[in-house]
Amino acid sequence: MINNYKLIYEGKAKKVFSHSDSDKVLIEFKDDATAFNALKKAKFNGKGKLNCLISARIFEHLIKNNIPTHFLELKSDNTMIAEKIKIIPLEIVVRNIAYGSLCKETTIKAGTVLAKPLIDIYLKNDELNDPLITKERIELMNILSSEDLNLIIDLTLKINVILKSFFKNIQLQLVDFKLEFGYDFKNNIILGDEISPDNCRLWDLNQKNDTIVSLDKDRFRNDLGGLIEAYSEINRRINDFT
Ligand code: UDP
Repeated sequence: MINNYKLIYEGKAKKVFSHSDSDKVLIEFKDDATAFNALKKAKFNGKGKLNCLISARIFEHLIKNNIPTHFLELKSDNTMIAEKIKIIPLEIVVRNIAYGSLCKETTIKAGTVLAKPLIDIYLKNDELNDPLITKERIELMNILSSEDLNLIIDLTLKINVILKSFFKNIQLQLVDFKLEFGYDFKNNIILGDEISPDNCRLWDLNQKNDTIVSLDKDRFRNDLGGLIEAYSEINRRINDFT
């Protein structure tokens, strides 16, 4: 409970509370970090605040560019008010450069620049370990109509164009990222969840040679250290630029 807000859902990185306005929720960003379907866990003081602030700035930028999102306003450094949505149980991953699971599951070499963005869709289901799924399986499970799936794919490709240029302006390369969508109270599809270094791979472009410097959750996944420093650097660059 935060003041009068009642906890309605707790995920790995966020808590969702009810709001006096039933069309809204309060989202609290936690300091917990998980990787590999929560097999690896840790806590980083200040991560929740950084992800909340970074997400808020990115949502504002997307809204300015006519992308419908659930973001309404920041409530504090680690909480935001958002539209209440019914989450669609899919994780939509966009890849501009091959890395992570794409390179574990195919023969594509890490670092390969993809000729066009690749969209990989995963079923959001911890028990099944979030498997990669097909359009046909999505329809078979009645998760979405093919029209709504196409709408999500169109929105995702637009978001990729906007975010690639947003991050390039602050010397970051957007390697890949994950989005989640939901239905708002009018049954419109809008972007939900968060957009932060927890669900984006961001490489520093301020490097003289070709070494990869990850300013994202790979610092935790791969035990590189300096996670809070990396997230703070992203937050600093966003604030200096906007
Ligand atoms: N991602 C995420 N949540 C997940 C899986 C992936 O936010 O449950 C993000 C991840 O941070 C990366 C992108 O989606 O930016 C692609 O991740 P990938 O499929 O390569 O999986 P990973 O290498 O993280 O296992």
